[in-house]
Amino acid sequence: MKIFFDVDYTILGLDDTLRPGTVDTFQKLLDDGHEIYIWSGLGERWEVIEKHELGRFVSGVYEKPTHHYHERLVELKVPVEPEFVIDDYPEIVAAFGGVWVPPYFFSRSVDHEMARIYRIICDFLETGGSEDRQYRAKGTKVPLF
Ligand SMILES: [Mg+2]
Repeated sequence: MKIFFDVDYTILGLDDTLRPGTVDTFQKLLDDGHEIYIWSGLGERWEVIEKHELGRFVSGVYEKPTHHYHERLVELKVPVEPEFVIDDYPEIVAAFGGVWVPPYFFSRSVDHEMARIYRIICDFLETGGSEDRQYRAKGTKVPLF
């Protein structure tokens, strides 16, 4: 699958550290034949890719639409349709399907979300869904608060 990861609070903390397990999970996803893409509402975050040496894992780095998610892919020059999205922001996850991940802030926090994301992806491939409550099917309605 073409798997899209958000940057801030998804793989990157406020303290500029990578979420624990990111590199291992990226390697497993590549080994399983997936393509990894990185996108951010702040633009193309090449500095993060370079600082954390993620270049060997990623097939593309893009600006992420923050509204009209499907419609704006062309405008933002995202050349492929995201098949599975990992983000700490629920709306975009519901638009494409994927995992709504609790935000990651600091390296001192205990965090096993990357392993959980990998399990949800495996569930999805096996069954077309996941029982995990962080999983969102494509087109899920997000409640308005
Ligand atoms: Mg984020």
